[in-house]
Amino acid sequence: MEAIIIILIVFIIWILPIIIGVKMAKKKNISPHLMWIGIFPMWGLVVMTIICLLPGLKICSKCAERNKKYAKYCQRCNNEFEESSITIPPQKITKNKLFLEYA
Ligand SMILES: [Zn+2]
Repeated sequence: MEAIIIILIVFIIWILPIIIGVKMAKKKNISPHLMWIGIFPMWGLVVMTIICLLPGLKICSKCAERNKKYAKYCQRCNNEFEESSITIPPQKITKNKLFLEYA
């Protein structure tokens, strides 16, 4: 019985943060290999928290370089990023338009 509890605790504080961290890193275009630090006990939690706090990265369509989230140009090849990723999503614009029509 004790063994099951120990395995559960190990899973929650060690393995789970690694799985979540890798998923979040992929979502934010950050290298999931960062989670290799999580091999050490407790460090999985630390790395997962760091990935949570990091802003997402933008990948250049020309050279695949990782750039800052709000970068307008690629730092390696100077490729200009599409404005659509910076501007307000279309849903918000239509909502504002509707509001203006009724006002
Ligand atoms: Zn580029």
